[in-house]
Amino acid sequence: MTADKQRARRVLQAARDARSEADRHRAGAALADTLEPLVRAARRVASYVSIGTEPPTTALNALRDDVLLPVLLPDGDLDWATGPLVPGPHGLLEPSGPRQGPAVLADCDLVLVPALAADRAGTRLGRGGGSYDRALARTSARTVACLYDGELLDALPREDHDVPVRAAVTPAGGLVQLGWHDDRVGSFDDVLTANALFQQQFHDEGLEGRAARGLAVVTCMDSRIDPLRMLGLLPGDAKILRTAGARVTDDVLRSLVLAHHLLGVDRVMVVPHTDCGMTKADDDEVHRRIAEETGIDSRSVDFHTIRDQQAVLRHDVQRVRSSPYLASGLPVIGAVYDVHSGRLDVAVGVDD
Ligand SMILES: [Zn+2]
Repeated sequence: MTADKQRARRVLQAARDARSEADRHRAGAALADTLEPLVRAARRVASYVSIGTEPPTTALNALRDDVLLPVLLPDGDLDWATGPLVPGPHGLLEPSGPRQGPAVLADCDLVLVPALAADRAGTRLGRGGGSYDRALARTSARTVACLYDGELLDALPREDHDVPVRAAVTPAGGLVQLGWHDDRVGSFDDVLTANALFQQQFHDEGLEGRAARGLAVVTCMDSRIDPLRMLGLLPGDAKILRTAGARVTDDVLRSLVLAHHLLGVDRVMVVPHTDCGMTKADDDEVHRRIAEETGIDSRSVDFHTIRDQQAVLRHDVQRVRSSPYLASGLPVIGAVYDVHSGRLDVAVGVDD
């Protein structure tokens, strides 16, 4: 396995060495362009100082002045700091600000990682020192490997101590999410490990179960939607109800009745989204696809697929408004979330 990795490293490194200076510079600029929105939106970012023929990270690291950069410790572990770069003991440039300690990585939500290559499952081929596998085991941040085109591969050799990355970025391909699940069917280790880190950072013990901002949001289960960030909310602020297509089902109404009368909710938003799978097929097609792929007859399940999203949204908003178990006049709006821009368009206003 190690021999496989060394071979892969040699081949990939030779390809990097053959790139022109101009090509490397263009790649670094493209990576910074692609990552800029993520870097700006992150609460805390860790990056690295590119060395040798790696895609240059100068432009990337200049996007914010509080980007954490690594300091290689004598035992191979990584400490982190910000500030101007100075030559370190191994000839590497390192940040000169106060060191934050290796554990600061747990506090980052975006970590940019050097790699020679990554594969579709998230396996990363590093420089070979093992520093990053130790560091990445301490964080549940979104980790992104910074690559040249052609370095995102179908499969790389993987060892047990390899910590996968969640995404890779290349100049031409942009940001690509990598799936960890391929060999993780039935395993929940990734999320349970992340929770162990979460507990150490946990500060929400003072929150109550009532919705502090009086809001309930009915939205889709789509994995691109982060309802709290989308609406500037924090834990404790709102009741979030999620169904496929953001449909107001009987069970959503049941939850809204409880939320309204017992848990402080006095306004409701129904938020479907663009590019929703529920708008792309009708119930018959979904039943047929499930039957074709699995042999299972799902026709007793009503999927509430959506033919006309605006009409369905109006219908669902009205369904909340006319519930006899909710106060008449409870403010309810419908808005469509654009998963490609983050924009929310109010389609059914309070008085519509
Ligand atoms: Zn959806």
